[in-house]
Amino acid sequence: MNKNKSSEHACHLPHSKMEGQESTSPAAIESSLPAVFLRRGKDESLRRFHPWIFSGAIHHFNGQPQEGDIVRVYTSEGEWIATGHWQIGSIAVRVLTFDDVPIDAAFWEHRIRVAYEMRVAIGVAGRDDNSTFRLIHGEGDQLPGLVVDIYGSTAVLQAHSVGIHQCRMDIAAALQAVLGSSLQNIFYKSETTLPFKAGLGQSNGFLLGGDADDIAVENGLRFHIDWLRGQKTGFFVDQRDNRSLLEHYSRGRAVLNMFCYTGGFSVYAMRGGARLVHSVDSSAKAVDLVNANVALNFPGDPRHEAFAEDAFRYLDHMDYPYDLIILDPPAFAKHKDALRNALKGYIRLNAKAFEKIKPGGILFTFSCSQAVSKEHFRTAVFSAAAAARRQVRILHQLHQPADHPINIYHPEGEYLKGLVLYVE
Ligand code: SAH
Repeated sequence: MNKNKSSEHACHLPHSKMEGQESTSPAAIESSLPAVFLRRGKDESLRRFHPWIFSGAIHHFNGQPQEGDIVRVYTSEGEWIATGHWQIGSIAVRVLTFDDVPIDAAFWEHRIRVAYEMRVAIGVAGRDDNSTFRLIHGEGDQLPGLVVDIYGSTAVLQAHSVGIHQCRMDIAAALQAVLGSSLQNIFYKSETTLPFKAGLGQSNGFLLGGDADDIAVENGLRFHIDWLRGQKTGFFVDQRDNRSLLEHYSRGRAVLNMFCYTGGFSVYAMRGGARLVHSVDSSAKAVDLVNANVALNFPGDPRHEAFAEDAFRYLDHMDYPYDLIILDPPAFAKHKDALRNALKGYIRLNAKAFEKIKPGGILFTFSCSQAVSKEHFRTAVFSAAAAARRQVRILHQLHQPADHPINIYHPEGEYLKGLVLYVE
């Protein structure tokens, strides 16, 4: 743990206690935390363990909280009900615990251990042929604002709230306690995910190690992971199971992997025995990445070619009769207001694929927009099929994998959906 030391502090201390640090006994810390009192009746969703408190639910405070502070939450009758991170915006508190325990080293270690044991139990962690998995999926692991992806001996830690940012050193220590010597590096990647208005000016960098091997293994296939410059934490871990399914359908087919990014689907298609694989992405950097990953697994294999081009343009111009097409675009709707346009985008994109896919072809089509429900998405794909006048059967309905769990009390955590379609 060698970087960012100067700005570090124990994240359970309220701002008011950080300067003087007169008393740090657990009881003194707990009693000095800012208190948030809810309006009458606004504790209902918390009694059902929903982890967000909206600003409109708050009646008053004791001690004005600052962004990132840990706050204790009370009902209008003065009963403690939750403890969480304060943030500025319509979601005012993201709940860390419904048990009255301090948010200390033991808290982080416990939560991370529970999450890790779950990954071992479901068979994504602790395997020789798979060193790539999501260890912490925010609310899905009862740690709102925190994402941790594991790539071999490197953990990429991403904070989506100031509270998590302030706790990053405690979280890093807990990761080491749980993962032991299998963890050699922790890369902190929150430059673009922290609220811009908080003005933290945080830059990405290693919290532990730094001499990291950038190759990780997913289901026996090897991938370069670019956590320094790549999107998200460097790789789309959430498509692992869907890539495996694609592998199963690839034998003898001509595959078009649209929006390929690092080429996860392309490499699985090649292992599955595809006759030919074309990868397309508008980013030249992505095309370099997919070529590097194909070369890593299938050096010199002539079946693969990659093109830097806009997806819509490529689909318009292409005349190759692909019989397996993957459409995995970026989120078209980043929030609810963009829904209408996003649906139009999905219709337009899918209609182009339906127009061009060979009879008897298979289409893997996805949406990772949280704001687009699976019903919305299915309706969009239905409209696209009708516009192209193709007969289409749904073979599979896909979703995010088990290491991206959905907290049953937080259905908002569902975001990835996909359909596998047989196009007559
Ligand atoms: N399927 C990938 C993840 C896709 S992420 C995987 O399994 O890892 C979305 C990708 O779409 C990004 O790489 C981005 O560069 C690309 N992209 C965005 N807009 C595009 C467009 N109009 N045409 C082609 N690619 C686009």
